[in-house]
Amino acid sequence: MHLTKGLVLASSADPLAELKACYPDEVGLDVPLSTLGRWRIGGPADAIVTPRSAGSLADIVTFVRARGVRHVIVGDGSNILFDDAGFRGAVIRIGRAVGGFAADADGHVRAGAGLWVPGFVRRLIDRGLTGAVHAIGIPGTLGGLVVMNGGSQRRGIGEHVTAVNVLTAEGEIARLDRDALAFAYRSSRLQENGAVVLSAEFRFEQSNSAALRREAIEILASRRAKFPKVRANCGSVFVSDPKLYALIGPPGMAIERAGLKGLARGDARISPEHANFIVNTGQARSADVLALIAEARTRVHALTGVAMEAEVRHLDPYGRFQPAHMVAPAHFQEMHDDGQSAAIA
Ligand SMILES: Cc1cc2nc3c(=O)[nH]c(=O)nc-3n(C[C@H](O)[C@H](O)[C@H](O)COP(=O)(O)OP(=O)(O)OC[C@H]3O[C@@H](n4cnc5c(N)ncnc54)[C@H](O)[C@@H]3O)c2cc1C
Repeated sequence: MHLTKGLVLASSADPLAELKACYPDEVGLDVPLSTLGRWRIGGPADAIVTPRSAGSLADIVTFVRARGVRHVIVGDGSNILFDDAGFRGAVIRIGRAVGGFAADADGHVRAGAGLWVPGFVRRLIDRGLTGAVHAIGIPGTLGGLVVMNGGSQRRGIGEHVTAVNVLTAEGEIARLDRDALAFAYRSSRLQENGAVVLSAEFRFEQSNSAALRREAIEILASRRAKFPKVRANCGSVFVSDPKLYALIGPPGMAIERAGLKGLARGDARISPEHANFIVNTGQARSADVLALIAEARTRVHALTGVAMEAEVRHLDPYGRFQPAHMVAPAHFQEMHDDGQSAAIA
């Protein structure tokens, strides 16, 4: 079987070389993941593929699936910790080419997964549609936002999603209703089901553009004041936990109370400005970040009895995504040369 660019779904010893030959501008071989993720961390991926259209995305995903090439889907990598060992397979990046935006008079919106979130929110504001202004400062793609149920001010984009259009793990185009998506705080079933999000549908309420614009400006100003100036970071590392919130407040406050603000491991540092951020001040490794995550989790647990969970997802070299705290304990010992302390699992 041949796909549009002549990709053959059978044979050939090196499928990634074949993919590169068919899509020379869209496929990079042996590319450091540090060039993709916001943390600027990560060893080489066998391939990073950035499809230039929804059509080539569908062909490329069909090809890698048929040929058994290990692959993962990412957006802007603003919530991913790539591993120092890189990734053995193809990282398929959903970029601006998978775009599109349409809104009707009743507040129904359909938008492509590759849209830049602040641009998406601005379009809603221009149309006087309210409900997603809280996401104005989130530096990722719309697909990543929906998968993560991202948002700010304790809100999540999932509140307004009515359906998601996906390429399923079986290679079918399907429309999943919100009931199938199990949105919860910073999570959704899309994190588990292997589907590629192509676009999402929303329902927003009508409001006033000028008021929404003022709200957006205030949110952006407050984020600028609060967030670290070092740009190589992945936003909040830990998700807020209701028990911790009642005891102390958000994770950043708990990490600060545990005395960890500014703690460094290699070039990774718990931000002195906001303790729920870990910044890369130079050549940080994923092992450094994971050691800090394990330390923060263990020390906050000792202080409060609450085991914080990471929002940031770690990608291992074999394609397994997990919340970063789940792989962090293995790195705990690196923080404690005397070996006296123990990490919580
Ligand atoms: C400075 C900074 C501030 C941030 N502030 C916030 C904030 O206020 N609130 C918040 O919620 N987040 C925040 N984040 C985290 C991040 O920006 C969001 O989670 C964002 O929505 C992730 O989008 P992305 O495109 O970068 O996804 P990625 O990080 O690339 O991917 C995240 C997950 O989604 C999956 N994925 C991405 N796109 C698709 C797709 N099309 N189909 C299937 N799976 C997909 C990936 O496999 C991965 O599991 C912040 C990050 C930074 C760097």
